[in-house]
Amino acid sequence: MFDFVIYFGPLEFLACFTLPLIGVCVGGWFWYRTQQRQEWQRVVTSFPYPAWVFRGDKPLAWNQQATNWRGMQDLVKLSGDVRRRQQHIVRTLYDENAESVKVRGVNVAQNVTLLLMEDNSTTKRQQSYYRNFIRNVGHELKTPLTIIQGHASKVSSSPNDIDGNAASLGIIAGEAKHLTQLVDNLLLIARLEAPDFQLDRRGVNFGALVEQIILDVSDLAETRQIGLDLNLQPGLPQIQGDRVQLRQMLINLLDNALKYTPAGGTVAVSLSQIDTVLSCRIRDTGEGIPEDDLPFIFEKLYRAKRTSTRTVEGSGLGLALVQQIVLAHDGDLKVRSSLGKGSTFTVELPIVEEAA
Ligand code: ADP
Repeated sequence: MFDFVIYFGPLEFLACFTLPLIGVCVGGWFWYRTQQRQEWQRVVTSFPYPAWVFRGDKPLAWNQQATNWRGMQDLVKLSGDVRRRQQHIVRTLYDENAESVKVRGVNVAQNVTLLLMEDNSTTKRQQSYYRNFIRNVGHELKTPLTIIQGHASKVSSSPNDIDGNAASLGIIAGEAKHLTQLVDNLLLIARLEAPDFQLDRRGVNFGALVEQIILDVSDLAETRQIGLDLNLQPGLPQIQGDRVQLRQMLINLLDNALKYTPAGGTVAVSLSQIDTVLSCRIRDTGEGIPEDDLPFIFEKLYRAKRTSTRTVEGSGLGLALVQQIVLAHDGDLKVRSSLGKGSTFTVELPIVEEAA
C-alpha cells in the first residue's frame, strides 16, 4: 500500500490564488488584443483602397484590397519611420507591376500605425490619357513634316523641274497651313483648359453672329454644292458670352457639317429660345457618325471611322474645342447621328439676365 501525504503549506496556498489570477490576466490580455485587432479590422475594411494597421513591426489588420500587396518590407519600414518620427509620412512605393503608388503612414495610437494607399486611379487614367495624347500629337505633326521634308529635298535636288517644283511648293504650303492650324488649335485648347482661363463675357447678339457666319461660309457651301438653310426665331435675347470663342465654336460645327456632307446635301441651322436657354441646332444630311465612335468624337485628336472614300482634311481637334467653349459658357452640347443619313449637333447656351 502506498501512503499519500498531501502537504498544503503557505506556498501552495499562495499558488491557489496567484495561478488563477495569472490565468485571468493572460486571458484578459488576449481578449483585449483580439478586441483591438477586430476594432482595427473594422477600420481598415471601411477604406476603399488598400489599408494596413501595424503594431510595432507586425501587421495587425489589413483589408481585402491589401491582400495582393507584395512589398511588405517597404510597409514595415514606412511604419517604423512613422513611429520613430511621430509624424505623418507620404512615401512613393512600387506595386507588383512596378507602377508607383503613394502610401500615407499615420501614427494612430501608441506603437500603432495606419498605412493607407492613396487612390491613384484618376492620376493613372490621366497619365495614360496624356501619354496617348502626346503620341497622337507627335503622329499628327510627323506626317505633314515628313511630306514637307520629302518635297523640299525634291525641289533642292531638281532645280530645273519647274512644273514639278511648283507642285511641290504648293504641297509644302498646304502642309505648312495644316500644321499652323493644328498648332493654333492645340494652343487654343491649352488656353481654354488652363485653370485661370477667363472668358471675355459681354452681351452677344447670338442670332446676328449666326447670320454673319452663315454669310461667311455661304461661298464655301456653294462651291461644295451644299444647300445652306437658316431658321432664326425673331426677337431672341442676347446672351452673356465671349464673342470670339462663340464664333470659333460655330465655325467649327459648320465647317464639319460642310466637310462631312457630300455635294447635293443640305446643312440647316436653326436658333430658338427654349425657356431659359438659347438652342442652336446644326443639322446636316451628310455621311453620319458610326454609333460606336459617337462617345469619343469630342476627345482631342479623335477621328471617327468613315465609310466614304472621299478625303476630308482634319485633325480631330475641332469638336474638342467646341466642347471646351460650350462648357466654359455653362452650356450643353449634344449630338445625334445616323450613318448615311446625317448628324445634328445641338448647342444650348443659358440666357443670363444682365444685372440692372
Ligand atoms: P476633324 O478635324 O477630324 O473634323 P473634329 O474634332 O471636328 O475633327 O471631329 C471629330 C470627328 O467627328 C471627325 O473626324 C468626324 O469623324 C466626326 N464628325 C464631326 N462632325 C461630323 C459631321 N457633321 N458629320 C459626320 N462626322 C462628323
